[in-house]
Amino acid sequence: MTSKNNLKNLQIFKQKLVRLNKKEIKLTNIIKLKLEQMKKLSRDKFSYWFGREWIKINQGEKLAEVKKQIIKLYWKIKILEGKKPKYPKNWISEPEKQQALQFSLIKIAEIYLKDLKKTGKYFRACCPFHPDKNPSFTIFEDNHFYCFGCQEHGSVINFIMKIENCSFPKAVKILLNY
Ligand SMILES: [Zn+2]
Repeated sequence: MTSKNNLKNLQIFKQKLVRLNKKEIKLTNIIKLKLEQMKKLSRDKFSYWFGREWIKINQGEKLAEVKKQIIKLYWKIKILEGKKPKYPKNWISEPEKQQALQFSLIKIAEIYLKDLKKTGKYFRACCPFHPDKNPSFTIFEDNHFYCFGCQEHGSVINFIMKIENCSFPKAVKILLNY
């Protein structure tokens, strides 16, 4: 490839990146707006939870796709600029994510929840995410949690994000450093 072609491609990629960044902002705003509307419209906790999951599945996937394209494009631009491509700050690779997901939620939860104990098949504790008198926070065999009181739920990464009030990359890093 001649350097003239390189410059032309660089131009195209940069323009595309601008468009994708705009798209990302637009999608983020749509999700925010939909979540707000849904919060107002939901009659009970369950319909709120259901609506939230519905939005995550539909809009969230589109947003994730755009973010993926942005990262790919960022790489291509760096290569064309002759720079050694570096991962964006806080980038979490798929193997890192998978490794973090392997951590036992029971072992992690034990650190935070002093009353965690096995009752029957599952581990239970008073929920750290809502005022809870009877243990509604439950850890299932598939390394996921669910709270029967506030419907909070997710993986070991989600647990760390919620309890440490941190981002996804931060939560993965916390887990990998355990
Ligand atoms: Zn709860």
